Amino acid sequence: MRLVLLLGPTILLVFSASFLLAWTLDRRLKHLLLFGLSCLFFCFGSLSQMLQIPPGAGPNAIVSAFIYTVSVLCFTEGLLWRAGKRTSFAEKAAVTLLIVGGIAFFYYVERSLLVRIYILNFGYGLICLVTAWRLRVMCRGRLTERVLFWALVAFALHFFPRTVLTAGGVPSDADEFGLSAFWLTLQFSLAVLGVVLAIALLAVTVGDVIDEVRHAGNLDPLTGVLNRRGSEEGAAQRFSDPRSQPLCLLLADIDRFKSINDSFGHPVGDEVLRNFAALLRQATRWSDLCARLGGEEFALLLCGCDAAGGAAFAERLRASVSAARFDALPEGWQVTASFGIAEARAGDNLAEVVARADAALYAAKKAGRNKVQQHAAVLA
Ligand code: GH3
Ligand code: MG
Ligand code: MG
Repeated sequence: MRLVLLLGPTILLVFSASFLLAWTLDRRLKHLLLFGLSCLFFCFGSLSQMLQIPPGAGPNAIVSAFIYTVSVLCFTEGLLWRAGKRTSFAEKAAVTLLIVGGIAFFYYVERSLLVRIYILNFGYGLICLVTAWRLRVMCRGRLTERVLFWALVAFALHFFPRTVLTAGGVPSDADEFGLSAFWLTLQFSLAVLGVVLAIALLAVTVGDVIDEVRHAGNLDPLTGVLNRRGSEEGAAQRFSDPRSQPLCLLLADIDRFKSINDSFGHPVGDEVLRNFAALLRQATRWSDLCARLGGEEFALLLCGCDAAGGAAFAERLRASVSAARFDALPEGWQVTASFGIAEARAGDNLAEVVARADAALYAAKKAGRNKVQQHAAVLA
């Protein structure tokens, strides 16, 4: 029985070693370091509980809760880092203090195993759910990203119903607790979902590496969206695929971007470009193309979308850009963009559609900026 329980920590060690090894191959991928540490800490946490190190129920509950919390935070922070996001140190410290402090309180001040179980499970469930919400754009990513996203949601949600198993009360005796339905279900569901999650993480990592090798020359290094070359390759594919029709091209150009550079400097301008590109990327579906054509001009190729759909999409995007807060800029500074739209016609190539969308964009600028113009409307 005890040997079977050691299977979990052993699997965790193997995953940890895989992530750490992958990280040593490319140290820029710091999220892999965090995933490796997360597996390692989880292994230490379960060993600390199983082997009763440190001895004594109180110290053991506190130390293992601390190790588990660090493990969960390493995991969620790794996911956020991979997506170019992060949480503050204060946020992580507050979460750790709340959980570990709660465990200490409900052991030494008001002894209740039940409340401690609720704190740990609901705490970790909530941390994972909040992370999934922050990364919700992943459910529009490629297959491995979508699998990882839903594995994360399942992992987060499983913390809630399983606490129901404690409804009949939990034995206070440590040995009896170790064999209770709650504890065994907990170990089993954690092991299964943990392995699913770790495999999904590895699959996404492999996908990232393949993507990087394949697309290195097609990406714009500043914003991470496609560059002109990448957009031409992606567009050629979609123009020749009937399943992508109708196709709508949207050109987006930031208004008076030069004045942002002039007022705050080039690095701030770069940060605005990165944020702007992220807004565009979040708005598109995974089958659409998002590219930076140069300077502060971006193109979106929307698949299965006609000019009317494109105009409605652009209008929503225009409103969300003008309402967005750009962290690099002073409070109250509003960034706006103008949009030109053209639907692809049979036999068009990218350059022809871009030329029509460009004429529409020029009209949007002339009409006073922060506007959407459709090519047909320009001709009318
Ligand atoms: P409009 O509303 O007519 O579009 O005005 P604008 O100022 O946005 O357009 P303009 O074409 O006059 O200026 C674009 C500026 O973008 C000029 C150039 O210095 C700046 N720019 C181009 N590439 C980059 C870049 O990679 N980083 C930064 N920070 N600025 C860039
Ligand atoms: Mg501009
Ligand atoms: Mg421009």
